[in-house]
Amino acid sequence: MSRHLLDRVLAGVPHGENPLRHVRELPARPAAEVDWPSWAPAELVAAFGSCGVSRPWAHQVEAATHAWEGRHVVIATGTASGKSLAYQLPVLGGLLADRRATALYLSPTKALGADQLRAVSALALDGVRPAPFDGDTPMPERDWARANARWLFTNPDMLHRGILPAHARWATFFRRLAYVVVDECHGYRGVFGSHVALLLRRLRRVAAKYGADPVFVLASATVSDPASSASRLAGVPCVAVTEDASPQGARTVALWEPPLLPELSGENGAPVRRSAGAETARIMTDLVVEGARTLAFVRSRRGAELTALTARHALAEVDPSLPARVAAYRAGFLPEERRALERSLADGTLLGVASTNALELGVDIAGLDAVVVAGYPGTLASFWQQAGRAGRAGDSALVVFVAQDNPLDTYLVHNPSAMLDKPVEATVIDPANPYVLAPQLACAAMELPLTDSCLPAFGGAVARRVLEDLTADGVLRRRPTGWYWTSRERPHASVDIRGSGGDQVAVVEADSGRLLGTVDPGAAFTTVHSGAVYLHQGTSYVVDDLDLSTGLAMVHREDPEWSTSPREQVDISVLSVEEEACWPGGVTVSLGAVAVTSHVVAYLRKLPSGQVLDQVPLDLPEQTLNTRAVWYTVPDELLAAAELTKHEVPGALHAAEHAAIGLLPLFATCDRWDIGGVSTALHPDTGEATVFVHDGHPGGAGFADRAHAALVPWLTATRDAIAACECPSGCPSCVQSPKCGNGNEPLNKEGAIRVLTTVLGAVTESPEESRTSRAS
Ligand SMILES: [Zn+2]
Ligand SMILES: [Zn+2]
Repeated sequence: MSRHLLDRVLAGVPHGENPLRHVRELPARPAAEVDWPSWAPAELVAAFGSCGVSRPWAHQVEAATHAWEGRHVVIATGTASGKSLAYQLPVLGGLLADRRATALYLSPTKALGADQLRAVSALALDGVRPAPFDGDTPMPERDWARANARWLFTNPDMLHRGILPAHARWATFFRRLAYVVVDECHGYRGVFGSHVALLLRRLRRVAAKYGADPVFVLASATVSDPASSASRLAGVPCVAVTEDASPQGARTVALWEPPLLPELSGENGAPVRRSAGAETARIMTDLVVEGARTLAFVRSRRGAELTALTARHALAEVDPSLPARVAAYRAGFLPEERRALERSLADGTLLGVASTNALELGVDIAGLDAVVVAGYPGTLASFWQQAGRAGRAGDSALVVFVAQDNPLDTYLVHNPSAMLDKPVEATVIDPANPYVLAPQLACAAMELPLTDSCLPAFGGAVARRVLEDLTADGVLRRRPTGWYWTSRERPHASVDIRGSGGDQVAVVEADSGRLLGTVDPGAAFTTVHSGAVYLHQGTSYVVDDLDLSTGLAMVHREDPEWSTSPREQVDISVLSVEEEACWPGGVTVSLGAVAVTSHVVAYLRKLPSGQVLDQVPLDLPEQTLNTRAVWYTVPDELLAAAELTKHEVPGALHAAEHAAIGLLPLFATCDRWDIGGVSTALHPDTGEATVFVHDGHPGGAGFADRAHAALVPWLTATRDAIAACECPSGCPSCVQSPKCGNGNEPLNKEGAIRVLTTVLGAVTESPEESRTSRAS
């Protein structure tokens, strides 16, 4: 079936194009069913049976038994492998065995929480009383849940703002708390993940005050080393269950690179590839014509709508009945709309659905004939989750990965083993980031005074230093019995656990007063400066005014033919060097704290063809970001030995910096927008040619540290990605960056390969000297 589908798709490729880079056959995996564990109550086994589960899979029982016997556990298996049952079994078993016990379920999204709540409610077990407690729950129902629910379904935001600060009102619930379920825990990464890690430590501290020591059950996509990721997140040692015993149909995976279009040229005359969205629409069209139920994942909402629209137009020419069988899934669908769409796809009424990643979580779609992934979804875990929607037991399916024009996607289609043979990356968090730790400790102190015995859970010496700073600033008061919160007001509301800290800038439509969205303060100058074109859910707006004192960006609806891109001057200075290694020839690699000063000075108005209309000056203040960075230096003699002239060096370093930022998401679970870089032929702090890659969040989110730890594979992949791109002198698939503040100038593709080869040649020998001065 799948080879046949791939052949049909290939038959539709225009003459002279050869986009297929790799094909891999993934064999089917048989199911391993086992008996229900002897400890499972008969009532519960009967309830699962009446919902269609007659026998569980081995991994479900293994994970459930760990939890039942009191061990913290993480289950890290693929999409549709029944992770829900693995935690429902011990939690419901526990709630049935002890009629007073309670449990807490946490999910990163409301949609997933609602799905899980519905599944538990459908079991109709007497006395379990599952209930939601999130931002949408009406007040009377919240009161009911607090007084009666034995299994509470909520999210980290509500736990942070609504439950922990009012723990006295939840005393009964906490006293009996037996289980905490953390679903989709690989989603907790970066700054958000660091906040959630500390939030879970606050939860354990509050539970302990009431005498409870709940068992944690975490569910994750397949990641490498899930036990240590989960243990770091939950703050307790977890055992991992990773052997997936659910059945999986055979799949054919095709890696696809859209062709360069000779008739078009982009920024600085660079060649342009056919867009991943257009290519995906064409592939989906061919699949729908074949009657294959197809799900396409597209990176943006607008892209998803456009993909569905393009496919519909093309299908109308084949068969007038087909366009109606293709739809776009939009974030913001009501739960009923979403389920109706899922049902239509499951029963074949719909044949093609184009979706953003919004569909990734909490949706029971599996067993499709084909999945098309347009652009790398950010992590291998996400890719495998999306690919896992394809393939029924006993039947095979097709997965097509379509590269977008960026260096990471280029690398992946040219290095299939990096995508198909590697364990999924571990999630990166940094709970020791003082910018995250300080507000979290303030919240913790308000909930219950902090004592010396609390400190190990929050990082020990680092936590003590942060507490001393908070005390010196008057936020906390030190008494003989501990650190106390001093104000009447709770600190929780001002702590944005999903953001980078600081007040968000609100984007408001001037005519209607409608709030369209919010922008991180650090990103406001580059995205919502006056004159910027701002996209919101596929609608275009132009910013009239950005007022930093009120935190408001006023916009009006307008769809000009141009887009805008900011021009930015960025400087970086080294605040402290924590690790430094010197290599033969004088190459050095360092990790430490830096201050990044950026100044948005103008913006360009550009037509879709890439043609620049004009440059408009802006009068905005400088911004400084204190964060962490990894950097390397190359002495002039080595650059000369690599046959780089003085004139070529800046472009070579700049190109190497761009591509390295593009590839880092493969090694740290970040987005290329979470990190930044600076390159210079002579940096005042190092006295040499230097390339910096820095975290984009105050205090860092662990990405620079991860880059430092993975330096050799990371820079090797960077060099390989540049070398694999067949463009003559640099394009978005290799060294151009959509977020470059210098308009992608100067860039020297060939020179970047030589710089990286020089650095890699040095750092793969043994170091001449290395020095560590980490504070903690
Ligand atoms: Zn290129
Ligand atoms: Zn740049």
